[in-house]
Amino acid sequence: MGVLDVVPTGVLTGDNVRKLFDYAKEHQNVTSSSVANAVLEAARDIKSPIIIQVSQGGAAYFAGKGLPNDKQQASIIGAVSAAHHVRLMSKIYGVPVIMHSDHCAEKLLPWFDGMLEADEAYFKQHNEPLFSSHMLDLSEDPKEKNIEICAKYYKRMAPIGLWLEMEIGITGGEEDGVDNTGADNASLYTQPEDVYDVYTTLSKIGPNFSIAAAFGNVHGVYKPGNVKLLPDLLGKHQEYVAGKVPGSKKPLYLVFHGGSGSSKEEIATAVSNGVVKMNVDTDTQFAYLVGIRDFVLKKQAYLQTQVGNPEGDDKPNKKFYDPRVWVREGEKTLAERVKVACQDLGNVDRL
Ligand SMILES: [Zn+2]
Repeated sequence: MGVLDVVPTGVLTGDNVRKLFDYAKEHQNVTSSSVANAVLEAARDIKSPIIIQVSQGGAAYFAGKGLPNDKQQASIIGAVSAAHHVRLMSKIYGVPVIMHSDHCAEKLLPWFDGMLEADEAYFKQHNEPLFSSHMLDLSEDPKEKNIEICAKYYKRMAPIGLWLEMEIGITGGEEDGVDNTGADNASLYTQPEDVYDVYTTLSKIGPNFSIAAAFGNVHGVYKPGNVKLLPDLLGKHQEYVAGKVPGSKKPLYLVFHGGSGSSKEEIATAVSNGVVKMNVDTDTQFAYLVGIRDFVLKKQAYLQTQVGNPEGDDKPNKKFYDPRVWVREGEKTLAERVKVACQDLGNVDRL
C-alpha cells in the first residue's frame, strides 16, 4: 500500500496530516517559487510525500525583499503566496504535501495571527485551512507560559483542521536572525516531564500536534563542538509518556530541527524514536548555490558581455545569462540534495 492509498495529492489538512505523519519525512524550507518547484520535482521523481515550509524571513523573501515588513506584512503575504503556489503546483506534480510555517517566536506573533486569519478565510470558502500546519516556538518563555500560549492558539486551530508544532527546550545555533548560540547546555536537552506536560495539555484539545523537543540539535552546520546530539533521548520521552497513557507505545509525534549535518545513524535513531519530520535547510541552501556557482565559474568567459565570447566576437551569450539557464542549475543540485535527505529518512518510493 502506498501513501496515495491513504491521502490524496496536493496540500493536506486535518486528519490527513496525521495520516501522512505516520510516514517520516523531510522538511524543506523554501524562499522562492524556484526552490518550491525544485523540491516538488525531487519529491515527484523519488515518489515521496514532502513537507514544504516557509520561515518568517523566507516568507518575506517570497513576497520580495523590497516590501516593508515592520508589521510582518511581507511575511504574512509571502507565506500566503507560497501556500497558494504550493497548493496549485503540488497537484500538478502529483505529490502529497504538508504546507507548514516554521519557528514563530513571541515577538513574531503578528505574523502567526496574519497566517491564521488567511487560514480562517480559506476555511470559510473551502472547508479546510490554507496551510496544513504552523509552528509556534515559545521555547524562550518559561514552560508554563509556553504551553499556555500554545494551548490558546491550538484551540483556535484544531476546529479548522490545522496541525500545531510547538517547541520545548531550545534548538541551538542561529537561524533566521534568532541566535541561540549562547543557550545554556541544559536547555538544549528537553526533559521527559516537560514533554508530558505539553502532551497532557494539548491532547485534551485535539490529536493533531507535534513536539520539537531538544536533544542537542543545532540549526546550521558547524565543526563538531561540545553539544552532542542524543536522539536516544527521544525514545525516553516516548517511554515516559507511554507509561502514563495506556495503550500507546509511541504517543508522541516528534520533530527534528537542525537536521543538516547529521549522520545517517543519528537520523535513523531519531526516526525509530518517533520523529515524523526532519528539517533540512542549511544543507539544501548550500546545494542550491553549488549548481549556480559551478555554472558561473565554468562559463565565466560567456558571462562578461551580452555579445562576444571565446567562440567569436559576434557570438551572443543570451543562452548563458538567461536566468532560466543558471538558476536551473541550482534547482538541479538542490533537488539532488532533497533526494538524499529523503533517502536518509527512508522516504522514497512511497506513493
Ligand atoms: Zn528549526
